[in-house]
Amino acid sequence: MEISGHTQMLCLIGSPVGHSGSPAMYNYSFRKLGLDYAYLAFDIQEQETAEAIRALRLLNVRGFNITMPGKTAAMACCDELSQAARLIGAVNTVVNEQGRLTGHNTDGLGWVHNCREHGFEIRGAKMTIAGSGGAATAIQITSALEGVREMSIFAMKDAFYANAEATVEKIRASVPECVVRLYDLADRDRLYGEIGDSDIFTNATPVGMKPMDDRSLIEDRGVFRRDLVVSDVVYNPRVTRLLADAQAAGCRTVPGIGMLLWQGAEAFKLYTGQEMPVKEVEERYFAEGGK
Ligand code: NAD
Repeated sequence: MEISGHTQMLCLIGSPVGHSGSPAMYNYSFRKLGLDYAYLAFDIQEQETAEAIRALRLLNVRGFNITMPGKTAAMACCDELSQAARLIGAVNTVVNEQGRLTGHNTDGLGWVHNCREHGFEIRGAKMTIAGSGGAATAIQITSALEGVREMSIFAMKDAFYANAEATVEKIRASVPECVVRLYDLADRDRLYGEIGDSDIFTNATPVGMKPMDDRSLIEDRGVFRRDLVVSDVVYNPRVTRLLADAQAAGCRTVPGIGMLLWQGAEAFKLYTGQEMPVKEVEERYFAEGGK
């Protein structure tokens, strides 16, 4: 479909954005479904976020994604926030409905959807999860909202630890039926103990990502029971050491790349009301060494 006077714009804002796969993924999907939209990427620094959003409001774009570093600054620019975005404290998708901007956070939903695609349902489950940064918070809050029964969070005692404390408070206040506890990640015996009666373990730290790709938070491979599901947010490499060890022990694994794919698919649905052609997008843009 050619760009015309009726074409509606969508975009990504953040910095850097040059490496982003989002323009290719969305524009391919618009063409495939015959939708009259075009998607661009703009390099916007954190302190420019509010001004950029004012401009996008004036241009009446259909919506936009926000990547680092503006995900938190964007919250104050929205007229409304979804419950997940409000509790996570970050917005990655904004939809414009007749001039009203609603901020969403699809990162956690992308993770939940990815698990579902791999045959694992978070509702009613017990999860042990390591991490207290952006990815971890999105997964923890969304899992609580999606009905996880019990969650044991393990976090390093660094500058991010207070995030985890705040997340625990928010979950206790907003989803009291979810039993949530916070532990020091340095206590490996407790970590292994909590994984012992969990349905799923999730790594939401960069451990396992290049250049830490020879590392895994789980050194004791005896932890990997056959009925444990193991998920990683790291997608570079696609199969982390954690996932390779878990696979070798016969566990079902959920790779991080699917979270990236499905958070985009969730945003696509919010913008267009239609399903993104996920299979084609995955084969074309998400395979290791793909476009
Ligand atoms: P962040 O900087 O917001 O948080 C990092 C977290 O990791 C903190 O909790 C920190 O305490 C912890 N951490 C850092 N170094 C550690 C170490 N050596 N041992 C234990 N814990 C450590 O980062 P983020 O945005 O949450 O990203 C984390 C990882 O998730 C990155 O690898 C990123 O690429 C990946 N990620 C994946 C997706 C996806 O869609 N799959 C989305 C977002 C982030």
